[in-house]
Amino acid sequence: MSTNRILSAVVLAILTVCCACTADRAGVDEVPDDPRASEFDRSMIARTYELARTASRDGNPPFGALLVCGDSVVAEGTNTGMSTGDVTRHAETGLISDASRRFGRDYLSGCWLYTSTEPCVMCSGAIRWARIPRVVYGTPQNMGGQFQEIPCREILERIAPQTEVIGPVLQEEGREIRSGFRRRDWKGKEDRPK
Ligand SMILES: [Zn+2]
Repeated sequence: MSTNRILSAVVLAILTVCCACTADRAGVDEVPDDPRASEFDRSMIARTYELARTASRDGNPPFGALLVCGDSVVAEGTNTGMSTGDVTRHAETGLISDASRRFGRDYLSGCWLYTSTEPCVMCSGAIRWARIPRVVYGTPQNMGGQFQEIPCREILERIAPQTEVIGPVLQEEGREIRSGFRRRDWKGKEDRPK
């Protein structure tokens, strides 16, 4: 192989690696807001951020969710994992659990779920069992690689392909709320008795 061809191959390899790095960063940090979100969707996500702030003030992780049926908010919830000691009380699982007992599971299959952060694996499972047809989330799970969760779209495509997923929506505000939690969360870990 000539020197020129070797140099060309090296340059091509470097460019390929750089492009891949840029694409990865864009995938993690720079996912644009979903243009399919309506004004109503945005107002509901803004409400989930208020709920997330309430959760934080109560000493819980800052996550909020609500259910809309027709044009009405029929239930709201927050993460209560710290205050109850129940690690399964994420905003979405708590909301679905309480609402299904209150309204019945058939009712939930006509509701839309709005949540401040993209549903995790556990919450995606609850969404599937409640047969919720539409999910709108505010902030992506993966903020700069902190959490390496499976995107809820991938999960729901497999287990509930009829469920429409919209998001992220108003993610800048949600990232701000979550970044405060991350700092507090790490401090808690440092303070934890050995
Ligand atoms: Zn969850």
